[in-house]
Amino acid sequence: MRGEEPAVNEALKVRALPEGSYDKLLEFLRLYRDAVQIVVDRIWSIDEKLSWKKLHRLFYSDLMRLGFRAHHAKEIYVNAKNLMDSAKSNGGRKPVLRKLSARIDKYDYKLDLDSMTLTLKLHNNYEVKLRLVTPKERVEKFRSWSNYELVVKYDEGVFWVSIYFKRIVKSLNPRTVMAIDLNFGNVTLAIYTPDGRRVRLKKLKTPHKKILTHKIWIEKIQKRYPKSWRFIKGVRKAIEKHGERIRNISWDYAHKLGDLIAELALRYHSVVVLEDLEKLKENNKKKDKEFNKRLGLWFYRRIQFCIEYEAGERDLEVVKVNPRGTSSKCPRCGGKLVEYGYRVLRCMKCGFVGDRDVTATINIYKKYISKHSRCGVSGVAPNAPKPDENPSGMQGNRDEAMTTSNHMNLYES
Ligand SMILES: [Zn+2]
Repeated sequence: MRGEEPAVNEALKVRALPEGSYDKLLEFLRLYRDAVQIVVDRIWSIDEKLSWKKLHRLFYSDLMRLGFRAHHAKEIYVNAKNLMDSAKSNGGRKPVLRKLSARIDKYDYKLDLDSMTLTLKLHNNYEVKLRLVTPKERVEKFRSWSNYELVVKYDEGVFWVSIYFKRIVKSLNPRTVMAIDLNFGNVTLAIYTPDGRRVRLKKLKTPHKKILTHKIWIEKIQKRYPKSWRFIKGVRKAIEKHGERIRNISWDYAHKLGDLIAELALRYHSVVVLEDLEKLKENNKKKDKEFNKRLGLWFYRRIQFCIEYEAGERDLEVVKVNPRGTSSKCPRCGGKLVEYGYRVLRCMKCGFVGDRDVTATINIYKKYISKHSRCGVSGVAPNAPKPDENPSGMQGNRDEAMTTSNHMNLYES
């Protein structure tokens, strides 16, 4: 059941030593950062949807005039739009870029694994050659892979490059469905075959407790200084510190989770199915209240953003389904589910019993299948997976379902 040949996507992160002067490389990185900032500044107040075409029309020629190459320009406005989208979806402020980091398209660099050198094409036709500082054995396996883009960074006097490699996925048709249920305290993902067999189940904790702790601190401080907290520097600083911890914890988690999910989906050739958070708001379900009680939707948006981003990087399909009823309808008969112990649900009509989160993944899977089953995809079963025998709703490896597994230990709270 896990015999699928893994198709992997991997980044090679190494230190890079410029041969000769690196003035031009630093100049490029500063110019790149400032260009991303300019684009962010200009699109920040635009409310309409910005297509790639439109971005191209708005910025391409300006960026070319600054000396960038065609693919530099594309990376710059794609980067700027992503930054803006994520800042806005979190209700955050306009991003201010400080770090020196640039994403470079595969057309703008040459990689030579024999001599372990990398040549970057910079602005105004400058080039810089970098030596990769890593044992040769480490890069050996990438010879048969194809590289796509890379990220070059300058941090405290050291250059780093992350070169992204992929091994081409043979079949583009998804062979399994990965249903993801996001909750207050955990994320549940389950992979189903088209005939409804579950081949993988994972529950991962979210860092919500840590985030809550910082949130409670902020609320306490604000309560103690109800009118003046904005104006006393020390108080404001303390609040900002907790805010920054919240940002770091949540971004860090979202990135790791997105990466883990996309890697797993790649390995199982899955289409990734998420609940549509916008619809969730409309439905105004109980789950929504739980979301908003303290954590807010921003955290889930952030997680979804990272899942979609990482999946996109790997050419995986992401589909969103309406979350209506995913945790209240029986996947077997459609009857109403009621609480039956801690996070366990039971159907009033047919007696189905299942773990709340696992049941949600079955329903998410079913919603996807009912909409997307096509002729040609062999054996798409119209019926639900068999309800689970044991009340916790776990099939297969129970340990895996209950804990984060060792190498994917995302978060411990
Ligand atoms: Zn039922």
